[in-house]
Amino acid sequence: MRTKLAAGNWKMNGTMAALDALEAIAETSVNGPAEVLICPPATLIHAARSRSGTVAIGGQDCHAAASGAHTGDLSAAMLKDVGADYVILGHSERRTDHEETSALVQAKCRTAWAAGLKAIVCIGETLSERDADKTLDIIGDQLASSIPDDATGDKLVVAYEPVWAIGTGKVPTTGQIGEVHDFIRRGLEDRFGTGIGGSVRLLYGGSVKATNAAEIFAVSNVDGALVGGASLKAADFVPIIAAL
Ligand code: PGA
Repeated sequence: MRTKLAAGNWKMNGTMAALDALEAIAETSVNGPAEVLICPPATLIHAARSRSGTVAIGGQDCHAAASGAHTGDLSAAMLKDVGADYVILGHSERRTDHEETSALVQAKCRTAWAAGLKAIVCIGETLSERDADKTLDIIGDQLASSIPDDATGDKLVVAYEPVWAIGTGKVPTTGQIGEVHDFIRRGLEDRFGTGIGGSVRLLYGGSVKATNAAEIFAVSNVDGALVGGASLKAADFVPIIAAL
């Protein structure tokens, strides 16, 4: 049994006042064995940890190196030190804004695991790639090259986030989500065996909201969601948690 996960990605949003929303989320009871995670800006991680109750806290990126001369960057160990349990890696905004490659994401994943963080590795196709019928090729390539060989279900979560669905209000059909999630599951099982491949949680991300969460969570091999905009306010995120 894979534990369901509702993960909020606050991106570059939120100052200390935003932790009131985190407290309101933390007060919500979760149905059954499910996990809730908020990834605030790194500036808030330490303060968030003391106000998040059973809600886990994560970072949104880390450097591939363990430490050193990298002005402005943060190491995985620093995130762990101030209370993070998870780190999001390879989000499409980082692949685009910072030209991150899958090879770099794989290196960051190794560093994150060495520091004791769980990694949420993001993959997803652009609209032009989907229109050209290349979705499964792109997903297969990103999956193979972004994830290190020593993955386990304890330390890896994969998030399928079609780039064209992020922040746009556009959502793939449940058939399209199911096709990709089944493909990712088969890919993980082929590479890591059915035990490990079957235990890695697969999140869907891209315009998840209270009104569509339940139907997305009912799709096979969807173990939860990575939520951007709708994780910023408790009133929007709590119903998504309840739909798990
Ligand atoms: P969104 O973002 O929910 O605002 O579409 C999802 C994400 O980028 O993880």
